[in-house]
Amino acid sequence: MPLVASPDVMYRLLIQSVVDYAIYLLTPEGVIANWNAGAQRAKGYSADEVVGRHYSLFYTDAERLAGCPDLNLAQARLAGRFEEHGWRLRKDGSAFRAHVVIDAVYDDDGKLVGFAKITRDCSEQYQAQMAQREQERNFRLLVQGVSDYAIYMLDPCGRVASWNAGAERTKGYRAEEIVGQHFSVFYTDKDRCSGLPDKGLETARRQGRFQAEGLRQRKDGSHFWTSVVIEAILDEDSGELVGFSKVTRDMSEQRRYEQALLQAKEAAEQHSQEMAGLSQFLDSVIANIPASVIVQDAGSRKILLANQQAERLFGGQGASMIGHLPERYLPSATAQYLHQQLTRGAHNGRAFAAETRVDTAIGMRTLRSRVVRCQSPAGQADYVLYVGEDATEQLAAHAQIHHMAHHDALTGLPNRTLFSDRLTHALLRGEEQGKLTAALCLDLDNFKNINDSLGHAFGDKLLRALGKRLRAELREHDTLARLGGDEFAVVLTGLDSREAAAHTAQRLIAAVAPAFQIEGHQFSVGVSIGIAVSPEDHQQAEQLLCYADMALYEAKRNGRNRYECFHIDLDVAARQRRLVETDLRTALHLGQLQLHYQPVVDHRSHSVSGYEALLRWEHPERGMIMPMDFIPIAEETGLIHDIGIRALNLACQEAARWEGSQSVAVNLSPVQFKDANLPHIVALALADSGLAPERLELEITESVLLGNSEENVQTLRALKALGVSISLDDFGTGYSSLGYLRSFPFDRIKIDKSFVQDMCDSREAMSIIRAITELSNSLMIKTTAEGVESTEQMYRLAAEGCSHLQGYLYGRPVPASERLTRLLPLAP
Ligand code: C2E
Ligand code: MG
Ligand code: MG
Repeated sequence: MPLVASPDVMYRLLIQSVVDYAIYLLTPEGVIANWNAGAQRAKGYSADEVVGRHYSLFYTDAERLAGCPDLNLAQARLAGRFEEHGWRLRKDGSAFRAHVVIDAVYDDDGKLVGFAKITRDCSEQYQAQMAQREQERNFRLLVQGVSDYAIYMLDPCGRVASWNAGAERTKGYRAEEIVGQHFSVFYTDKDRCSGLPDKGLETARRQGRFQAEGLRQRKDGSHFWTSVVIEAILDEDSGELVGFSKVTRDMSEQRRYEQALLQAKEAAEQHSQEMAGLSQFLDSVIANIPASVIVQDAGSRKILLANQQAERLFGGQGASMIGHLPERYLPSATAQYLHQQLTRGAHNGRAFAAETRVDTAIGMRTLRSRVVRCQSPAGQADYVLYVGEDATEQLAAHAQIHHMAHHDALTGLPNRTLFSDRLTHALLRGEEQGKLTAALCLDLDNFKNINDSLGHAFGDKLLRALGKRLRAELREHDTLARLGGDEFAVVLTGLDSREAAAHTAQRLIAAVAPAFQIEGHQFSVGVSIGIAVSPEDHQQAEQLLCYADMALYEAKRNGRNRYECFHIDLDVAARQRRLVETDLRTALHLGQLQLHYQPVVDHRSHSVSGYEALLRWEHPERGMIMPMDFIPIAEETGLIHDIGIRALNLACQEAARWEGSQSVAVNLSPVQFKDANLPHIVALALADSGLAPERLELEITESVLLGNSEENVQTLRALKALGVSISLDDFGTGYSSLGYLRSFPFDRIKIDKSFVQDMCDSREAMSIIRAITELSNSLMIKTTAEGVESTEQMYRLAAEGCSHLQGYLYGRPVPASERLTRLLPLAP
């Protein structure tokens, strides 16, 4: 049978059984009138514990104190219903979140009968809701707080809907400035024009996501590199597009970093390429440098690297020493050398340098080496580096250069530099030992002429042969040097006296005397020597040599082929010569050079046949200066050319003015023959003066003919062709041989006054005079005897057949105006 009950009862039963809701009735005063199972479950009270009590017991103390229970009832009474979410207490004092509905209940008459109260425990939903809120809040804060990323929402049209701090930071817009604007403002003009913003949105719309990197623009117009992600947001239920989330990250830093990284990588790659190139280059440098390079492992002592040069030098051709210990592999001499060098280098803090003679695979060589110990940069490996240069040739060249710098190439004798060194040393040593040191200056007599007439090659041979002879006369510790030309010099050391130096000089002269055999010719030369001795003459090398040179000059003046020792008068004379040299040019221009005339007498007719013109220098301070005191200097300086022209012209002009037809004889220096123009000069003098050529005689000395100088003979012929006479002066003093008389058709021979002076005492002089006159007469050559001072000489010379005489007996050289024109008749 079905359970049948009244609707009231049914309703109450229903209420009673609802367990999810606390459903109960309150009296109009708020007293609990009934209690259902849900109420018991929710609040923990049983019906009998709670029915009849005021419902405020479910409220918290604070709410109770605030009068909430009554206020809520009042509201329900007024509005018919009160509803809230609030906190309620259980019996055990715990609070729960409750959804409370209080409905006012009226009877049919409209009178309030109480309140129906439904309370539902919503703690779980509440907590879930609270948790979701918390989550949402956190997420919002997160999004807002993320400052590295611009995170914002776009509406479906692309307008900015939300804006976070990162977006503000990245793009410079504040939320209120940008929300509502189209997101294309963030793009560059170019990108905007090409429609890039819409393309991005379109892709996100179609594919759900758009991702790219690109350049974006900030509010201030500056650009930055970004990584952009746009994602479409669809409504969960309808699947409709509600907008886009857009995340933009400022990649400028990263991009810069990436680019820097890229650059660094490229640089590193390039560097490594360069290093590879450099290493290749270094390999070829090592292979090609003209030095031996060896690298040894300091630990194992094995050879790690050896270039070709090293292998050729130490190991021999085709050998490789790499990977070996030097002593196991190389010949003992080189192994020992290398071992020594490498060991020294290995134990030496700094580079170790050496120069060593080594018996290498290519023979004895001088090796200049540097050995240094090196550590690899990381410090793991330790090497010994050997670099050896073959200095053999260089040293030989240096020795050669040194020898050349100190020796004369022609004779191999020390040169001036070495001579000065030796002399300086000898002077120091001599001073220490209390011994004398001598400097000798040597000069070949007439070498200039030999050289000029026989040629330089002949001269060179003569100098070489001469050097040998001189050297052979000296002791080991003496120095013989060639100072240049035909100038030689000697240092004699450890002497006890001046005489010792003089003896050596005499020996040297004697050594040179025997004829030289050169190119099949027999040839004799003389040598003049000047000697200066230290410490007496001077203690300084330079001055001593200068004094020796003065003594040499004196020896030459005194007749050559002899020696002379320095004495202080020579210094005075030398100063004098220097003075002469400077004065002579002025003298020439001021007409201080005049001619004096000495008569030449024709013995047979006893008349003055002519005059010899002899130069005189009328010095304003020093008075009359004789030719021997200035002609040699004029010859040395070349001034003789001008002086000779002056004498020639003056003689021609003066003679042209004389009454009668006496001849005039002018002396020509051998130096003047160097001027190929000489015949022309003579022709001009004749033409200018109007002197008949047959009245002019030119006196030359034998040296002009020395060595049969072809050029000079040509000049003589040209002179003779002018119609003038040629005389051979001072005959017998030089290297004379009567052969000269046949080599050129001389008009006159002048027998030197030295023979005339000696003729009365010396049979030899007499026989020379006789030989000359006999030959001359047979060749129809006139002879003039010079220096005739006595009648005895006159008679004897006449008896020997001399055609002419000249000397103080007849007259001294005097100015033209005072010249002797007529001889006194001979005494009967
Ligand atoms: P020389 O040509 O042999 O001249 C003869 C020299 O002997 C002259 O000396 C003369 O004064 C000197 N003398 C003449 N008779 C006697 C005598 O009886 N006894 C002595 N003891 N001497 C006598 P001087 O004038 O001093 O000339 C010396 C040399 O100077 C000359 O020697 C000549 O070689 C040279 N000389 C003179 N004038 C010139 C010139 O114009 N040009 C050149 N190139 N040389 C000249
Ligand atoms: Mg003369
Ligand atoms: Mg003479």
